[in-house]
Amino acid sequence: MTTATQTATDSARTDLRFIIIGAGMSGILSAIKLQEAGLDNYAIYEKADRLGGTWRENEYAGLSCDVPSHLYCYSFAPNPDWSHRFSPGPEIQAYFEDVAQRFEVEKRIQFNTEITRCEFVDGRWQIELSDGSSDVGDFVIAATGVLHVPNYPDIEGLDSYKGTVFHSARWNHDAKLAGKRVGVIGTGSTAIQIVGSLVDEVEEISLFQRTAQWIVPQENPPYSEEEKAEFRKKPEVVEQMRALILKEFAEGFANAVVDAYSPELKGIHDTCEANLNDSVKDPELREKLRPNYRAGCKRLIMSDNFYDAIQRPNANLVTEGIERIEEGGVRTKDGKLHELDVLILATGFQVDRFMRPMEVIGRNGLALDEAWQKGPCAYMAITVPEFPNLFMLNGPNGPVGNFSLIEVAELQWAYIMQLIEKVRSGSCNELSVSSEAMEAYDIERKESAKTTIWQSGCNSWYLDADGVPAVWPWTWDRFRDDMANPRYADFDIR
Ligand code: NAP
Repeated sequence: MTTATQTATDSARTDLRFIIIGAGMSGILSAIKLQEAGLDNYAIYEKADRLGGTWRENEYAGLSCDVPSHLYCYSFAPNPDWSHRFSPGPEIQAYFEDVAQRFEVEKRIQFNTEITRCEFVDGRWQIELSDGSSDVGDFVIAATGVLHVPNYPDIEGLDSYKGTVFHSARWNHDAKLAGKRVGVIGTGSTAIQIVGSLVDEVEEISLFQRTAQWIVPQENPPYSEEEKAEFRKKPEVVEQMRALILKEFAEGFANAVVDAYSPELKGIHDTCEANLNDSVKDPELREKLRPNYRAGCKRLIMSDNFYDAIQRPNANLVTEGIERIEEGGVRTKDGKLHELDVLILATGFQVDRFMRPMEVIGRNGLALDEAWQKGPCAYMAITVPEFPNLFMLNGPNGPVGNFSLIEVAELQWAYIMQLIEKVRSGSCNELSVSSEAMEAYDIERKESAKTTIWQSGCNSWYLDADGVPAVWPWTWDRFRDDMANPRYADFDIR
């Protein structure tokens, strides 16, 4: 007689192949987790010659992470040696390189290999690669990241500029900045970090501000050698610290931003206002730096040196709009030419790209571009109707508050793994969200977004083309619970 267990075991798939797109934080995570689950038949393709994703691409002056380091790392690979509470970018890049090596993922990465096309044919994903070769997989894990295509501003005359110009995510290490007149366009997290870091080095720095930003004061003390020794000796101390930061972030921030009238958000606003009032002496400059929207509406910026930097004698805050860019610099609407040797475009990213420009074709020849005609969508930020067995990490509408994207990706992976298990155990071959569930999810998501702080009257990269916040509009607890418990009734399972 055959038991139910035997039947499941007999039909279990041991031959599944996985294609991971990208060797950034999420791609490395996917490879480690697949190995851990005994699913070793995977390929990981990376278009660049190094791993690290956003931490490889962003090499701008002053780069650091605004999530505390002991939370901004994998839960299974704590790092007792973080130098600071918020560690600098190169240290984070080194962390990912170290983890990828230790978990034996690095040797599996095929560098300089871009996936140009994925098509779902007869139940499997056919993959075309930039070197002309191909691959076939049962699953595609899209770990391409969100902020990876630079947004170059559409400003008249940009091409005519004769000085050195580059985007913050394409840092020109050959550019001489010391003793130069440097302009920075933009006031996002990137620009704020750049200004704070360069002000002492350059002759003059001009920050072209279109919109003022609220800034949370953020002290960034280094960890002492004694502290690091204790972290090494007692891993439980690091674990407790991580748990505490996670709780603070979840309760004090992630849950607050989805309720525009929460007391926590009021507290954050008051903190930002006090920071501005206490830090900036000149009343005229202070008012120029004062945003006309509520704190948290744009992604909050943390900084311990920006207000100090912008008050230096060699710093200019330029609030007149930009008229055009000319050979010698930036001409503002008041007719003034701001002469510059170097112009840094800290103008953000095209946030609707995800897997694209890759061509992705799902069931019945449906192109992802067509499915996303009205904008990128994905149920739970993970799955798209008619794209079976293709799962995204940090996909559309995915960011959860200012939360650590690593923690988010780990929980998303736990969700994806449950979907994979369905196929591995032999109970089905293909899963993707059903069109009906996708539609219902998006209606609820958009409705819930109305009461979040992101929709309280400002412009930001969180908003989609219709002005709806393209983020997780619910609490952190709901995210954690939803990721732990897939609702299979919402899936088209074959
Ligand atoms: P961003 O937040 O999108 O900021 C882009 C800036 O460029 C904005 O100030 C925008 O002005 C300005 N801008 C764009 N086009 C312009 C134009 N044509 N003329 C004048 N100004 C223009 O980009 P980001 O600073 O690179 O940051 C993006 C995200 O990356 C952050 O929100 C964060 O999620 C992440 N990040 C994180 C860290 C970290 O510490 N973890 C550091 C850097 C970045 P408006 O505001 O008026 O639109």
